[in-house]
Amino acid sequence: MYTNRWRIWALAVVCAWFVAGPAAAQIVVSRLGLVSGAERTRITLDLSQKVEPHSFVLADPYRAVLDLPQVAFRWAESLPTPAEGPIAGFRHGLFKPGTSRLVVDLRQPMRIVQAQVEPEQGQGWRLVLDLAPTTREAFLAALAMPSTAPPTQAKPAAPPQDGQMPRRSDGRRTIILDPGHGGIDPGTIGVGGVREKTLTLDVAQDLKRVLEASGRYHVVLTRLDDSFIRLRERIQIARSSKGEVFLSLHADALGDTSFRGMTVYTLSDRASDAEAEALAQRENKADLIAGVDLRDESPEVASILIDLAQRETMNLSARLAGHLVQELSREAQLLRNGHRFAGFAVLKAPDVPSALIELGYLSNRLDAQQLAQAAYRRRLGQAVLRALDQFFRSRPGAARAG
Ligand SMILES: [Zn+2]
Repeated sequence: MYTNRWRIWALAVVCAWFVAGPAAAQIVVSRLGLVSGAERTRITLDLSQKVEPHSFVLADPYRAVLDLPQVAFRWAESLPTPAEGPIAGFRHGLFKPGTSRLVVDLRQPMRIVQAQVEPEQGQGWRLVLDLAPTTREAFLAALAMPSTAPPTQAKPAAPPQDGQMPRRSDGRRTIILDPGHGGIDPGTIGVGGVREKTLTLDVAQDLKRVLEASGRYHVVLTRLDDSFIRLRERIQIARSSKGEVFLSLHADALGDTSFRGMTVYTLSDRASDAEAEALAQRENKADLIAGVDLRDESPEVASILIDLAQRETMNLSARLAGHLVQELSREAQLLRNGHRFAGFAVLKAPDVPSALIELGYLSNRLDAQQLAQAAYRRRLGQAVLRALDQFFRSRPGAARAG
């Protein structure tokens, strides 16, 4: 008995060391150098430790991607923003826990000549990424698959039947909250530098608290921290967690700073209006921003079965949106036509009623201020709670189960 306990304790210490060990010694990237010539372009990164880089290219638009173990980007000087030449700019951030990514935006097709790490005279390490111009044909031929394994194809699902939705054994319904953007993809940036990815996570955490306090809902978040999650993965989290409702949280920004208000969106192949269409295009770009290759994203609606499931789900989603608009309009200012629709990639789970809430315009001072207030967010949470209660109550058979 004593020996067993000691063994467990020793194991725990070893595990803790493995977990804490690498995190304790954070790798810092402190400088980015860029030298462009006709023959070759050299990008260098100064690193505090040696890393194993993984590099590949992506097309349309042309990009070179450098994946590193999780690092801290602490630039000693601002990044170069070349007005001309083969390099258009740089983006970087956490791609997923354990992996940081640098995306090099290219103005022309280029090939990766080398990506190596060598010791720097003095101290530290230097990563050298050499690129050379190439033809579009050669570029496309060199396209590597993304470093992450392609997501498994979603299985065709039977349409959800009224009153036959999966229930947890504790009787609570599972709600998926999807804080938009994250990691390398900040989303929109509003007044005072507020970032959409930060706001959506804060709101999701507050909503989770309110919904779970009711005792009627179990809430799963698609991300718990500032990490990048592909749009397809968000859908898969909803399905694998047996979500009964999927709510994606976003906020928009516009050049016209007087524009304010909330909107609830559901999926449709035809957008309700030009603004909704433009918004869906902006939101669907999230994967592109993070340098994800979209070629493996085969259309979600692959079979008639899924198509049917989706049609049924779209009707349920529209009903859900109706309840959300009604309840949210008691607490918040909604746009005229508070329920709109367009082709949002994140709403394409074939069997989970889904809606996307644009919480407001971060370009508007009043919207941004309100969304920063915990009391306002709690009121939104209460409105969502009432809307969910109505949604499940209005479904025949739902009352019987609880
Ligand atoms: Zn967004």
